[in-house]
Amino acid sequence: MFEAEVIIVGGGPAGSSCARQLKLGGIEAIILDKCEFPRLKLCAGWITPKVMRDIQMDIDSYPHSLVRFDRLNFHIRGFGLLVKTRQYSIRRIEFDHWLLERSGVPVFHHAVRDIRREDGFYIIDDAYRCKYLVGAGGTYCPVYRTLFEGINPRVQEKKIVCMEEEFAYDLADERCHLWFFDRKLTGYSWYVPKGNGFLNVGIGGKFAGLKSRGESIRNHWEHFVQKLADLSLVADSAFRPKGYQYYLRHNVEKVQLDKAFIIGDAAGLATKDMGEGIGPAVESGIAAAKAIIHGSDYSTHAITKYSLPSILFSRCS
Ligand SMILES: Cc1cc2nc3c(=O)[nH]c(=O)nc-3n(C[C@H](O)[C@H](O)[C@H](O)COP(=O)(O)OP(=O)(O)OC[C@H]3O[C@@H](n4cnc5c(N)ncnc54)[C@H](O)[C@@H]3O)c2cc1C
Repeated sequence: MFEAEVIIVGGGPAGSSCARQLKLGGIEAIILDKCEFPRLKLCAGWITPKVMRDIQMDIDSYPHSLVRFDRLNFHIRGFGLLVKTRQYSIRRIEFDHWLLERSGVPVFHHAVRDIRREDGFYIIDDAYRCKYLVGAGGTYCPVYRTLFEGINPRVQEKKIVCMEEEFAYDLADERCHLWFFDRKLTGYSWYVPKGNGFLNVGIGGKFAGLKSRGESIRNHWEHFVQKLADLSLVADSAFRPKGYQYYLRHNVEKVQLDKAFIIGDAAGLATKDMGEGIGPAVESGIAAAKAIIHGSDYSTHAITKYSLPSILFSRCS
């Protein structure tokens, strides 16, 4: 059986940030991920200056595509609003791989299924054993499902359903557009240019609101792509979108149980207003690592809850 002081399940931004912080603190950790990296992750890939500071990302030496936006084009029920800010877009297929490699910890390709406790250790699939276990496996994280779901059930009113596609496209518009509350959607749709000629378009909304009106996110997606065509933003694409769901932040009381922790989407930490999840994933990963290093308690109270202040107050210089 392979043994490590800390095993992190999931190598997304939460897991790799936790791993890097542990490594800096001199603690031995490994990551298990069911996917081989680079792997596709459904995400618009918008990151804030705070995320860059938290991961100590030097823009000039980042080896992949990165787009800077000095303005965001908000469209709220037909009214346009130009918001001066400073935000960025990355491609998750590149960014996550870069973060994972930079963490400097061994990564094993393994889909975690079974977790049990024995003699003070966590045993994973009878193949791995650790003293500390960190659940960073996203919405369906096996650590969350095995150890935390009973005490921290997901709040269905906070469930966000999304459809999205990222593809190579000859951009008609280099700006970032966000449309809020179209057709009474409790959510928004986006058009986010990426580097190297890629474009990400998608839509996300609260599942409960859609259900109560007998709608689905697919209905809204159809209207959204028609809008993109009407605005001549994307005119001739045979879309093949994928869907995913995750949870906005709610009162997650227990994120640590003895020596087990949940971070990022596994803990349901995406911001309440915009569903920004990369920042909270990074912050919670670092916080859990510090708790392990110092033997202190881990809590998510200080982790970013809202994105709008950061958008409105990140002015371009
Ligand atoms: C359509 C969409 C658009 C989004 N846009 C944005 C955005 O623009 N900006 C933003 O900040 N947030 C956005 N989010 C949210 C953001 O993507 C997530 O909050 C973020 O990825 C959470 O990071 P994480 O590390 O917790 O989980 P993830 O990035 O999901 O990583 C989890 C990892 O765990 C692995 N894993 C899962 N199960 C197992 C298992 N059983 N065994 C081993 N490994 C496992 C997975 O392979 C994966 O690599 C978006 C989400 C969606 C769905």
